Amino acid sequence: MQIGFHGAARTVTGSRYLLSLDHYRLLVDCGLFQGGFEMHQRNWRPTPFRPSSVNDVVFTHAHIDHTGYFPRFAGDGFTGRALATPPTKALLGVLLPDSGGLQEEEARWANKKGFSRHQPAKALYTEDDAMRSLQLLHRLEFDQETPLHKGLKVKLHRAGHILGAAFAEIRYRDGDAGWKTVVFSGDLGRRGVPILQDPAPLPACDVLVCESTYGDRLHEPTDPKEQLRRELEDAFRRGGFTVIPAFAVGRTQEVLYHLFELFEEGRLPKVPVYVDSPMANSVVELYCRYRSEHDVEMNELEEASGSPLQTPYFTVVRKRDESKKLNFERGPGIVISASGMATGGRVLHHLLHRLRDERNTVLFVGYQAEGTLGRRLLEGETDVTIMGEGLAVKAAVRQIPALSAHADANELIAWMKTAPAPPKTVYLTHGEPAAQDAFAERLRSELGLKVHVPEPDDVVEV
Ligand SMILES: [Zn+2]
Repeated sequence: MQIGFHGAARTVTGSRYLLSLDHYRLLVDCGLFQGGFEMHQRNWRPTPFRPSSVNDVVFTHAHIDHTGYFPRFAGDGFTGRALATPPTKALLGVLLPDSGGLQEEEARWANKKGFSRHQPAKALYTEDDAMRSLQLLHRLEFDQETPLHKGLKVKLHRAGHILGAAFAEIRYRDGDAGWKTVVFSGDLGRRGVPILQDPAPLPACDVLVCESTYGDRLHEPTDPKEQLRRELEDAFRRGGFTVIPAFAVGRTQEVLYHLFELFEEGRLPKVPVYVDSPMANSVVELYCRYRSEHDVEMNELEEASGSPLQTPYFTVVRKRDESKKLNFERGPGIVISASGMATGGRVLHHLLHRLRDERNTVLFVGYQAEGTLGRRLLEGETDVTIMGEGLAVKAAVRQIPALSAHADANELIAWMKTAPAPPKTVYLTHGEPAAQDAFAERLRSELGLKVHVPEPDDVVEV
């Protein structure tokens, strides 16, 4: 079998891995490249394989950097099945049309402000394209081995990263050598994080294609809830508004969970909290609906007092004019809005409005990829351009590093050790070069593993 690394190679976005077995082709994830101009341009390059030549797609989870290219891929000729766990399928029903809407909005802005290289600027795909692509989705239940092709089976295991997230175990018949196993980690979550069940153990495998986002870092041992409390207390003291750019899927729900507990425990003043992202609000509903995915603590809270994610503490903002009205709200108060890396979405309007005032705070609660506005703000840039408008950054820019949906280097190693035997070969993907090289070295020296770090579009025989 061959594996082609056509995305998330030497970078953290655009996950696309093509498996070829005889004439059968399976694409694992179909992600959008995100961050900076160069990444943006990569989405416009045709894939090195024809979409119509791919039989099936399997999604590990719903995040756009793993799924957001799919509407374009379907528009370019893919007509096979796209398989996902039931919660992932439900999430994609929200995320992909939203992504199409964002693509259209970006193109409109670019035309209005004249900052596109295309004249007129075009959308990579539209909301309608995304809606059409949803028709190709099929459910694949967790923990059920399913044959996709003669001599190839797939099983999805819980990865604990976001609702519905899985790692994919693919077993295939390797001629006379018998059955072999390759596992794609997708994005691996952390143990003991609120709401969702912990990641399942790694099965025995010949090849592990493993993410390495935090390959050179360890999360702070500090309790993220306590960090959130301290940062918000400081922010409230400054008197302004706090903007929390948060991924609509996963991070928003985790922040809400912590805020609920802090308010209930009386450890934080009850200030108004606005969840200003129609998508995040739809996703909150899905997080509540899929109770089979909840961990013990979440179930207990739900039984005691209803869902901690839907309480009177939190105001759901849906309409655009309600969102704009928040500009006139005086602090202290919190607005949680997407996108998490400030690459698009309503959070840009909040940043445009709030960054100029030193009383305000921008609190990042997730990973900020190279080239994104979030990363530039965190690195202390004081002059930024948002939606074509230049401004001087005066607001406090803070981060909660302990909040992460990704396992760190030690946690990835601990997960690898849950396998009955170590994987024979590891391919590291979904990481920036420094993180990948450091992690590869650790795996070689500490675990004695054979490790490769593929370059974009490398194809290997396994
Ligand atoms: Zn993810």
